[in-house]
Amino acid sequence: MNIHEYQAKALLKGYGAPVADGVAILSADEVDAAVGKLPGPLYVVKSQIHAGGRGKGKFKELPADAKGGVRLAKSADEVKAFVNEMLGNTLVTKQTGPAGKQVNRLYIEDGADIDRELYCSLLVDRTVGQVAFVVSTEGGMDIETVAEETPDKIVTVAIDPEAGVTAENIKTLNEALKLEGDAAKDGEALFPILYKAFVEKDMSLLEINPLIVMENGHLRVLDAKVSFDGNALFRHDDIRELRDTTEEDAKEIEASKYDLAYVALDGNIGCMVNGAGLAMATMDIIKLYGAEPANFLDVGGGASKEKVTAAFKIITADPAVKGILVNIFGGIMRCDVIAEGVIAAVKEVGLQVPLVVRLEGTNVEIGKKLINESGLNVIAADDLDDAAQKIVSAVKEA
Ligand code: GDP
Ligand code: MG
Repeated sequence: MNIHEYQAKALLKGYGAPVADGVAILSADEVDAAVGKLPGPLYVVKSQIHAGGRGKGKFKELPADAKGGVRLAKSADEVKAFVNEMLGNTLVTKQTGPAGKQVNRLYIEDGADIDRELYCSLLVDRTVGQVAFVVSTEGGMDIETVAEETPDKIVTVAIDPEAGVTAENIKTLNEALKLEGDAAKDGEALFPILYKAFVEKDMSLLEINPLIVMENGHLRVLDAKVSFDGNALFRHDDIRELRDTTEEDAKEIEASKYDLAYVALDGNIGCMVNGAGLAMATMDIIKLYGAEPANFLDVGGGASKEKVTAAFKIITADPAVKGILVNIFGGIMRCDVIAEGVIAAVKEVGLQVPLVVRLEGTNVEIGKKLINESGLNVIAADDLDDAAQKIVSAVKEA
């Protein structure tokens, strides 16, 4: 689960990290009150979307030379003008994809005078089985680019869970970031704080890009991206409350209500499969025959007719889907239940695109009979290879 920058900063501030004062707003009416709470004269107006690269992003509705999704303002009037330009518009960044994301919240923050921009993140390093800091003096830009062009400028420090962040770790981090004087003292306090927050809140990623050294010599967390381990959310009521479902894929939210393992993808062939392995194989073979899957969907082992119906409805409701492939190997899952679910869903919402069904396993004959007698316009397939070729060519011909 991801949260907004302003929420991440509030969380880190609670742990004692150096974060600027700021106010999140949902409407232009709130600007005066927000600005009134900040010292000025420099303000930052920041788009709150679950994607990075906002500063260099472009608003779809604004001219190409307009400023991006993070703007520096030198007066309350300028803040107001920026808010009016940004709020409600669609920001396209490297991370949003071409569709962009609508900006429904802005964060107005006390501006900083920057001396240096650094990179500091924490993640679970699976190669060593520990939480690790990844830091670099090259902040404010894509860490992927730094990793590609100047990998020697990235330093990784894994933290022993028994010892926590040691004086030795701090020394290494401070040296890697070339922190001296006040900044080094700030680092000494900050690194254990970040580690504590990461572990206590079951984060999977904490990325500060940039962490800045201000002109006054002190550190400040200027941007913050936090993701939490979804499997640990049950023990964090406070974190679950931060969820902003408007930032998530509506189809995935619907699927989660039915406990379906569903991930929306960019292709046009909707897949309904049981078992994650078979779902992966199905996606692979669709690609092999030259098309792209519209989703990953595992209806699970003992899915009910209602669950299958819900799954099929989620697939058909996606306007990008130009064909559907149902690929079921009935072990625990029974083929007749799948057939009943598909038929029930089609009766409710209709079927506008070609549908290929491949059933195998428990109750396969009953399943096939149900589909044959339903009057549904189904293309039957014998095996996975046949099924994939049939749906790919049906979509290409349509
Ligand atoms: P991102 O583009 O989504 O990563 O958003 P950031 O919060 O990282 O902001 C992008 C850039 O805006 C930063 O790298 C800074 O260069 C600049 N910026 C953000 N806040 C401030 C600020 O308080 N003062 C100054 N001078 N620049 C800022
Ligand atoms: Mg950033």
